[in-house]
Amino acid sequence: MRIFKQLLACAMAIVMLMCLASCATTKDVDTDISVYQNENNDSTAESALSKTQSTTPETDNAQTGLKVRFLDVGQADAALLESDGHYVLIDGGNAADSQLIYTVLKKEGVTSLDAIIATHPDEDHIGGLSGALNAASAKKAYCSTLNSDTKAFRNFTQAVQSSNISIIVPQTTTTTRESLEFGSAHLEFLGPLKDYGDENENSLVVKVSYKQVSFLFAGDVGKNSETDLAQLPDIEATVLKVPHHGSKYSSSYQFLRAVNPEYSVISVGSDNTYGHPTSETLGRLKDQGSKLFRTDLQGDITMTTDGEKITVATEKGQAADVYKPNDQNDETDPLAAASESSPSETTSGTANSTANEIAASQTSSDADSLNASADEASTAEPSAAQPSSPPVSDYDSSIVYITNSGKKYHLDGCRYLSKSKIPITRADAKAKGYTPCSTCNPG
Ligand SMILES: [Zn+2]
Ligand SMILES: [Zn+2]
Repeated sequence: MRIFKQLLACAMAIVMLMCLASCATTKDVDTDISVYQNENNDSTAESALSKTQSTTPETDNAQTGLKVRFLDVGQADAALLESDGHYVLIDGGNAADSQLIYTVLKKEGVTSLDAIIATHPDEDHIGGLSGALNAASAKKAYCSTLNSDTKAFRNFTQAVQSSNISIIVPQTTTTTRESLEFGSAHLEFLGPLKDYGDENENSLVVKVSYKQVSFLFAGDVGKNSETDLAQLPDIEATVLKVPHHGSKYSSSYQFLRAVNPEYSVISVGSDNTYGHPTSETLGRLKDQGSKLFRTDLQGDITMTTDGEKITVATEKGQAADVYKPNDQNDETDPLAAASESSPSETTSGTANSTANEIAASQTSSDADSLNASADEASTAEPSAAQPSSPPVSDYDSSIVYITNSGKKYHLDGCRYLSKSKIPITRADAKAKGYTPCSTCNPG
């Protein structure tokens, strides 16, 4: 009680001092004070936002898109997402990164997070989240579990409790899936699809979409979780936060084909003791064909999207897409073998030292809708990696299906497609050395 009285007296003294200060000194003081008054700052921001919205109600013009900043937290994960002034933090690096996370949020002017997401309780994912909760309040906190014994998890739990919220373990079954809107972006928890008895495999898998662009945050999942996730009809994403820092036990061919990312980001520390990212995973990413970005080589990686195209800015200019085919391991895969003969993407210069900012057009099957205009296409990096191919006929560009292990291509419905079914154009299938199945006779 005595302490309470002392605090009250202190608070009153501070209020009086502030009154005096605002009367007697320059505007700078006011500005400084407002930075520390989180609540007031927040309400000011919100009223400013509602003003904007009232003049331009519910139009596209009011939307600023989606910005995803993969923070360089060394051998760990952290990403700050923003849409229309609303923020979500997915993982927060190691405990040693608390200060870094705190500074990032303060610099960005984040006073309130719509959600803070701990994909799983390993220290390299939740260690720095207490720093985030010191810098900003959070409306919601998610984690893959409520039961973990680690010091990092206890610190996280305490920080969440002192924010007067409780940790939510989101529903992630195929029938009931928790989701969240922040700004104009949509966030969904896709996984884990069951209990794998392993904290990495049980990582929360989060998909964030804005119009036609989506980001998949795969935590530290491994092959078991990936196999189930690959079956989800909406697992495809424009950008993949590569699972488990590029571990060789993650990023299976099956998973990468299902996600089919245009860009991949590996959050990893240089010279880490795990040997991440492994040459096996780099090889599989290379075969999959996405543009690779790495926090160990490029520092913070910021991707901004208007819902159609993505602009990438890297803190350091070093190229990340430097995988050499000679590093290839002995894992056999038909696509891996086929890609050996294709031109190396290291020459494309997408992430070269001078091009810190690139705007790349989509080349996925949604290419028509994603390449909004010729103007936008012209700002895109020329895709030097694509060999100039002769025009293809409708027959060649029609879809056939291949399997994970087979060497044949099939028509839809062929009985050999019961285990896996990967769509591919007839021309691509032929180019990669697949031959027509003699049962369904695709021609
Ligand atoms: Zn990790
Ligand atoms: Zn982990």
